[in-house]
Amino acid sequence: MTTPSHKAQEAQLSRSLADPIVPHAAAMIESLGEDPRRPGLADTPRRFAKAMRYLTEGYEAEPRDVVGTGLFPAEGEGMVLVRDVEFHSLCEHHMLPFFGRVHVGYLPGDKIIGLSKIPRIVDLYARRLQVQERITEQVADALVELIAPKGVIVVAEARHLCMAMRGVEKQHSATATRAVRGVYAHDAAARQEILAMIRER
Ligand code: ZN
Repeated sequence: MTTPSHKAQEAQLSRSLADPIVPHAAAMIESLGEDPRRPGLADTPRRFAKAMRYLTEGYEAEPRDVVGTGLFPAEGEGMVLVRDVEFHSLCEHHMLPFFGRVHVGYLPGDKIIGLSKIPRIVDLYARRLQVQERITEQVADALVELIAPKGVIVVAEARHLCMAMRGVEKQHSATATRAVRGVYAHDAAARQEILAMIRER
């Protein structure tokens, strides 16, 4: 077991002292040709630091920390699907937002996970400097580690502002990624069945 409370305390302490991000943000504003002392910008470095700390809060916990007591014995044989889990993340190449939805399906082994815990696992990985592919894989691996299901599928669809704002992508195009484990990796019929459920609207 890690020591999340200790890590969290440390993080809080460093935040209550002057955040080292603040002077860097002020320097960046100045480098862009702006006056970091003008009223509209005076408090921006502090707000930026606070926002960045919040958006990268996922570094301070592991899946077991957010799941807590939310694991239960499996009672049925059926697959479980949690669709449309919204997420917001920062791409590690530009530190600009990408955001969208994650769909998580699994076929239980001996254990199931409380449905409300899946969005918390997604958030845990989304609130880091990330790439969409890695979030998708990490969510799948977290479920394998936590409940050892017979199969897991994670599908993510997201828009990347680093692409959209720079005109690299068409305005409404989304990037899709997928991670499969267990039965969904080697049984095409099972995979098609759950993918069809994910696509149902
Ligand atoms: Zn990017």
